[in-house]
Amino acid sequence: LDEVKKVDEEIAQAIVDEQERQNSHIELIASENWVSKAVMAAMGSPLTNKYAEGYPGKRYYGGCQCVDVVENLAIERAKKLFGCDYANVQPHSGAQANLAVQFAVCNPGDTIMGMNLDHGGHLTHGSPVNISGKYFKIVPYGVNDDGFIDYDKLMEIASECKPKMIIAGASAYARTIDFKKFRETADAVGAVLMVDMAHIAGLVAAGLHPSPIPYADVVTTTTHKTLRGPRGGLILANQEAADKFNFNKAIFPGTQGGPLMHVIAAKAVCFKEALTDEFKVYQKNIIDNAQALCSGLISRGIKIVSGGTDNHLMLMDLTTYELTGKAVEKMLDEAHITANKNTIPNDPKSPFVTSGIRLGTPAVTSRGMNTEDMDQIAEAIAMIVKGGEEKIPAARAIVQKLTDKYPLC
Ligand code: PLP
Repeated sequence: LDEVKKVDEEIAQAIVDEQERQNSHIELIASENWVSKAVMAAMGSPLTNKYAEGYPGKRYYGGCQCVDVVENLAIERAKKLFGCDYANVQPHSGAQANLAVQFAVCNPGDTIMGMNLDHGGHLTHGSPVNISGKYFKIVPYGVNDDGFIDYDKLMEIASECKPKMIIAGASAYARTIDFKKFRETADAVGAVLMVDMAHIAGLVAAGLHPSPIPYADVVTTTTHKTLRGPRGGLILANQEAADKFNFNKAIFPGTQGGPLMHVIAAKAVCFKEALTDEFKVYQKNIIDNAQALCSGLISRGIKIVSGGTDNHLMLMDLTTYELTGKAVEKMLDEAHITANKNTIPNDPKSPFVTSGIRLGTPAVTSRGMNTEDMDQIAEAIAMIVKGGEEKIPAARAIVQKLTDKYPLC
């Protein structure tokens, strides 16, 4: 940071402030994490200086011999980690990976089925404000009244609309996804099955959530959520689908220019870390912590969509307390708990207001917190939900005890 300070004091100060914010707050945003020092160092390496349009051994620029080593290692490790025969490590983000796959498989106007945003889906799965919703005809599917994906309805809708592609995967779904059922639906209507496993990639890598690889034609993910790598995207497939749809061409030159080689190096480091036994233990701890947080909230009278969690996240339903996600997010922030407002299935409120809060445990688990700490966090959250602004100081005292106990570095 000293080098930044010498050149740009304002940015250096903002970085220091952010470091302090991260240290003094409990991070419960389900899509965030803390990367290792090795991942961080790879991202800040001289590889950022290199242009490398193309793919290893077939570049449009000279001097790519070293970055070829990096990209080949990233590809081989991704294939080993997820047990597939094709990987593209170049997507700049999860959204880029999804766009490239849609571009590779579909033509503008084709029908795509994606999970309703309100029910836990992601913007890139067909929201009207996203390019996916503008270029394709989107038919949504969702969850039943108990908050579980309605697989019968999925089949019914697919039989009616005959989609070119079905997207499985979500941003706010706390239950195990049955990829076999998605495959059966796709087969019944002749659709291509894309799985976006961005949220659960770390759990899949550790064998703690069924892998989509045996069922999907193509799998996309981010590398920065449970997987604990740099911000970025990844496309995985079997060779047959990779040859048929040419995902490489859809990334470059289809939707991106030069790859971010420093980020690809950090992805390679992340995959190496994810291949270790320690990583499996970490992923198991994420789930244990999520279940402890969830039961801590339920035992204090807070309603959770679907009544529990199988993975790293949960969705609080605030309707019984007549609270909005927006108001609770703000109060939690004042108590130094960072979380995000989120729609719940059939939410009467807009996405800017919402009736829910999404909570996740990847970051607190990286910080070293355990199931007893989760019960303390549940106590702090319940205090605020049930007691309002008055309880912010008491909740903040609980938070401070925990952040002091687990300093970030
Ligand atoms: N897919 C899913 C399921 C996500 O939850 C997200 C981000 O939250 C994305 C894709 C997009 O990833 P990115 O923010 O890297 O574009």
